[in-house]
Order: sequence, then C-alpha cells, then structure tokens
Amino acid sequence: MSLQENVALVTGGSRGIGRAICVELARQGAAVAVNYAGNRAAAEETVQLCRELGVEAEAFQADVADPAACDALVAAVKERWGRLDILVNNAGIARDGLLMTAKEEDFAQTLDTNLKGAYFCTKAAAKVMLRQKYGRIVCLSSIVGLRGNPGQTAYAASKAGVIGLVKAAAKELAGRDITVNAVAPGFIETDMTAVLPEKAKAAMLGTVPKGRPGSPQEVARAVAFFAGRECAYITGQVLCVDGGMAV
Ligand code: NAP
Repeated sequence: MSLQENVALVTGGSRGIGRAICVELARQGAAVAVNYAGNRAAAEETVQLCRELGVEAEAFQADVADPAACDALVAAVKERWGRLDILVNNAGIARDGLLMTAKEEDFAQTLDTNLKGAYFCTKAAAKVMLRQKYGRIVCLSSIVGLRGNPGQTAYAASKAGVIGLVKAAAKELAGRDITVNAVAPGFIETDMTAVLPEKAKAAMLGTVPKGRPGSPQEVARAVAFFAGRECAYITGQVLCVDGGMAV
C-alpha cells in the first residue's frame, strides 16, 4: 500500500504513538504535518525522522482544545500543501483520579482535549475533505473507553465519546468517500504510561493475554491501515490494538 501524494495531519505527533504514526505514514510516502501543543523540540525530531524517509514534513503548533486554533491548523496545512487527505486525531491527555476526589477542572480539561479536540479538528478537516470528495479520518480511542477503568472516569468518558463521534461522523461523511474510524489501544509504552506506578503497570499487564505492553509502532500500523485509499468500504469501526485485553 502506498500513501504517495497524500497529505496527513497528525495531532500530538511530537511524541509517543503520534510520532510513530507520523513515521509510519511517512514511510508509506505521505507528506506529514506534525502537530504539537508545547514541545517544539520533540515535534522537530519527528519532522526530521519523516524527512529522512524522503517525504515533506513540517511542525505546526496548536492546542486542539481551542477551536480557533484547530481551524487555523487545518488552514495552515491546506495553505502549505493545497489539500488534506488524512487526519489522525491522536492528541490526548490523562488526568486520573477517583470519582469521589478528582477535580472537576481535570474532567473538563480531559474532555476538552480528547473529545472536543477531536471534534474541532474533524469539523475543520471535513470542510476541506468534503470539497475534495475524499478523506480518511482516524481517531485514537482507548480500551478504557470501551471497558472503563477505576480512577479514569474522565479519560474513559472522553474515549467513549470519541467512539460516538466516529460513528456519527462516519454516517454523515460516507457519501463523499470520507471514512472515519477509531483505533483503541490497550497498554502501550509511551510517556503517558511511563508515569504510572509500577503496581498499576503490573496489574494492567496481568490483563493482557499477550503478556507484554504494545509498542507505538504496533498502533501506528493499524492507523495506517485505516488511512489507506484501499480502506474505502470500512467506516465507523473500532479496531482494538491491545494484545487481546478486550477479548
Ligand atoms: P503521550 O506520549 O503523552 O503524547 C501526547 C501527545 O499529545 C504529545 O504529542 C502532546 O504534545 C500532544 N498533546 C497533548 N495535549 C495536546 C493539546 N492540547 N493540543 C495538541 N497536542 C496535544 O501520549 P500517547 O501515549 O502517545 O497517546 C497518544 C494517544 O493515544 C492519546 O489520545 C491517548 O489517549 C491514546 N492512547 C494511549 C494509550 C497508551 O497506553 N499510551 C492507550 C490508549 C490510548 P506535546 O509533546 O507538545 O506535549
């Protein structure tokens, strides 16, 4: 499969799963817009990794929780390359805490970034894709959005919300060859999971039939599958990349 002549925008492309997605799309030939929130140096490293694969890549700062910033981000990518074929809504945060003690502002911030961020970017990208009559949108959900997890009410709600967004947008946009799908990772080794206490990591690993964490590359390959032109008749789906956790 080839993504040559495709332009991809990956939110949160500076680190972790987002970086692996940028590199995988670049490996398949796409030009890559690497979005980041505050970590410019990491975003530039991702850009460099993509360019080494022979494609065009550039870093674009934008806070996906800000609707005007999302509109400006998509406009900047369109201005740079003239089109937008692939949007990957990957940017995400986890502000964990028990239901009875977690702060309301952490709930709001998690929803603003993970769910509203995906909504703002999807809306901005869809405007371009509807005119092109082509697009591939992939959102990062989570196994936690399907099954819940103690201490993660905000995160679980945001990731379950992403699945609703994906299914509704898939139905709205299907007529113009725009697909919208979700990838739901399980326990993947990134900065997000590195901060978990060892006990929590061991407990989570105990629920993974494969007996090991996943890598960002393993998630990236599933995203690239949905991002391909050939993936035209699959939409509104959720693909778990979780070593069997959800089975
Ligand atoms: P990560 O290592 O913590 O990286 C988060 C990325 O999101 C960074 O690139 C960060 O940019 C960006 N970001 C955060 N807030 C943003 C904002 N407001 N606007 C724009 N970008 C923002 O996370 P990860 O583990 O790779 O996770 C990536 C996605 O996969 C997330 O949606 C996460 O929920 C999902 N996921 C992860 C796992 C896992 O086990 N790791 C499991 C299931 C789902 P800066 O570098 O600029 O801060």
